[in-house]
Parts: sequence; C-alpha cells; structure tokens
Amino acid sequence: MIGSERTSLMLEVIGMEKHELPGLGYGYAALEPYIDMETMKMHHMKHHQAYVDNLNAALDGHWRLSGKKIEDIVSGLAKVPENLKEAVRNHGGGHANHSFFWKVLEKGSVPESDVLEKLKDSFGSFKSFKDQFSKAAKGLFGSGWVWLVADRERLKIMVTRNQDSPLTVGKIPVLGLDVWEHAYYLQYQNRRPEYIEAFFKVINWERVAENLEKGSKGKVAI
Ligand code: MN
Repeated sequence: MIGSERTSLMLEVIGMEKHELPGLGYGYAALEPYIDMETMKMHHMKHHQAYVDNLNAALDGHWRLSGKKIEDIVSGLAKVPENLKEAVRNHGGGHANHSFFWKVLEKGSVPESDVLEKLKDSFGSFKSFKDQFSKAAKGLFGSGWVWLVADRERLKIMVTRNQDSPLTVGKIPVLGLDVWEHAYYLQYQNRRPEYIEAFFKVINWERVAENLEKGSKGKVAI
C-alpha cells in the first residue's frame, strides 16, 4: 500500500471522507420572488441532502472512490465498478449537479460584455440563446437538466436525463437548470415555462463568466 492510499484509508476509517452538503452561500429567501424560500429549503435540505446521503451509503467501504472529489468521480463514471455505477450515476450526479446549480444562482446579476459576446458567437444573439435554452427546458420530457456547456471553442445547449452530468461525456458545464419537478412544483405547480422565465432573473452571470473562463482552459468548475 502506497502512502497516499494509506492516508486515504485512515481518513475514511475516522470518517473524514464523506461527501457533505455544501452551503448555498446565500439565504433561502435570497432568490424571492423568483424561487421562493420553501422551494429552496426543500430542494437544498431534503433533495440535495438525500443525494449526498445515498452517495455516501453507496461508497461506504469503497475507499478508492470515497476519497475523490465529486467532479472527478462523475467525470470518471466509466471507471466506477459495475455494481456501484448506477448508484454513483444517480446520487453522485445529483450531488455534482446541485452543487453546481446553487452557485449559478443570484438575484440582480447582469451579463457583462465578454459573456454576451461569447453567447452571440455561438447562438447569434442573447435572445436566440435564451429562446433555445428555454425551448430545451420546456421540451424536456420527465426529469433532467438543461445545460450551457463548453465544447472546445463553442458553447452548446445540452440536455441530460435524470441526474446525468455533462462531465460524464466530457462536456464542461457553464450554466445549468434543474428541470425536475421538485425544483419548482411547490411554487409553480405545472407551470414549468414560468419557472424557466424566473430562472433567467436569477442567473449569477459573474459565476457563468468564471465557468466560461475555466471551461476555455478545459477545467471544471463545481
Ligand atoms: Mn434538484
């Protein structure tokens, strides 16, 4: 056993390598009225927590995996043992996607010129980007996510089912929208288009710009 593996095993034995629910970085009511406090509380404290707990349960005893960062686990899903793959795909993906999502939310942010330029380069105009992203979100049947991803020099819109992550197929997320009903049903019931419109009022464009910068270098931002 080499040194780093030994350290990893020791940390796991003393319970230090569990994945943890990250803080939002803002209050549960910070996105009101676009996403209300009750929705944010349930989503973060119950749904995201469940992904974290289920991931930890799945990885229990698998110390080679449990010491890794979530973005590395999800990026390397193909290398996860078959008997763990489905649990890691669902709960690891859920943990990664939600950790990413909270950070791209902020009320009152506006995109700066460099972001607008990049969106214009890839989609023709900001409006065209918003229309295409919204259409993908409205049209997603069942549960999943809509993403803006960096694919080499281009930005693309991508849809993933369930809790699948763009990272698993080598795409770097820049912006993401949770289109599971649990993300909006308390407040918007079946009015998904209103939730999508509201999302555009709470995009943290500064964070998107950071993600773009990292994405252009092939780095992952979670
Ligand atoms: Mn969710």
